[in-house]
Amino acid sequence: MELVVQKYGGTSLQTAERMAQAADRIIKETKKGRQVVVVVSAMGSTTDDLTALAGQVTTRPAARELDLLLSTGEQVSCALMAMALQARGIEADALTGSQAGLETDATYGSSIVKSVDPLPIRQRLEEGKVVVVSGFQGCPGGHEVTTLGRGGSDTTAAVLAAALKAARCEIFTDVDGVYTADPGTIKGAQKYEEMDFESLSALAELGASVVHPRAAEAAKSGHIPLVVRSSFTEQEGTTVLPANARTYAFPVIGVTYETGLSHLSIHGSMDMKKLEEEWKETLNPWKAVQHTGGCQYRIIIRDEDVYDTRSFLTRFRGKLACRVSEHATGRALVHVVFKSGEEKQNAEAFLQQLPLPSGVIVQSQPHVWSIDVAENHRVDVCQVLHDYCMKRETDPVSAAN
Ligand code: ASP
Ligand code: MG
Repeated sequence: MELVVQKYGGTSLQTAERMAQAADRIIKETKKGRQVVVVVSAMGSTTDDLTALAGQVTTRPAARELDLLLSTGEQVSCALMAMALQARGIEADALTGSQAGLETDATYGSSIVKSVDPLPIRQRLEEGKVVVVSGFQGCPGGHEVTTLGRGGSDTTAAVLAAALKAARCEIFTDVDGVYTADPGTIKGAQKYEEMDFESLSALAELGASVVHPRAAEAAKSGHIPLVVRSSFTEQEGTTVLPANARTYAFPVIGVTYETGLSHLSIHGSMDMKKLEEEWKETLNPWKAVQHTGGCQYRIIIRDEDVYDTRSFLTRFRGKLACRVSEHATGRALVHVVFKSGEEKQNAEAFLQQLPLPSGVIVQSQPHVWSIDVAENHRVDVCQVLHDYCMKRETDPVSAAN
């Protein structure tokens, strides 16, 4: 019997009505003779609301208790979805991440799934049940609760699909597939019917929020086709397959933006290589670094890492004689993601001449051309770059002029 994992995101479960629509879709799948495992996110903005609530109680909530709090969002969806299915005459069991056999490491707030015991789900499937699993959470042992980081329900779905050797993993969301840019803000964004995992990972890691990067990795290493589609339409969506599945026609994989970034200017004599090495061991990697002249560097990091980075640099000061001279929030990076470093080199000279509203070009990865802009300019900059890249495909000469 074919087994399918379906994941429903927060917007697809925002209200009881949407929950019912998702339940009907799940039932349709079972009627085709398939076993279905459903992974659910928290309803609507529940995770943001719970985070804000914690913030009203304390400015620095303990990671362990925050995980306990946030994991409840997915459990609400999970229990309600099982009830919705039962109300329609379908046998269904709701499981927390721990009950579903997801073992994680003990990093609260961004834990990694270490293993999955497929038995609790398998047994229920064999009894003819639909199994509904709370996304975004697991257990590092005992009765502890961990979460997998924002957007982590995608990872739950992909990891379960791999462990259960599913025929495919379907991610139901509010867009109908993976596009060359965010279709909600960028005109002319093109949808992929098929793409490969490398391309999806490249986009996901650089801010395309359509699928969590760890989910792309898990599906890839488990050889599970991943389908990204809308829960509001019957449209086909994007199917993500291994590299040699099919090549696509677009000149770039896509143009993305990352928001919620900060500048940290550091000043002093330092060995940047050594700094980066120690940095990687202690902190989330920096997004980019610019040499701004003399002994001055500007490092771009995520807003939430500013506090830890400052204390890291203070500790580092003795060794490297550097000091933080400035900190600015409200930054964004716009990335043009190429298929290869060579493609990037071919386009670089043209990109530099484009009339962009603002921004400083920064080095990030060999196949990515990135520009640092104020957050409120990100859409305009992304639009100019995307227009250029798409035009270049059809008419390289006029695109260059
Ligand atoms: N509810 C969590 C979040 O909002 C996990 C998820 O939706 O995947 O980040
Ligand atoms: Mg998501």
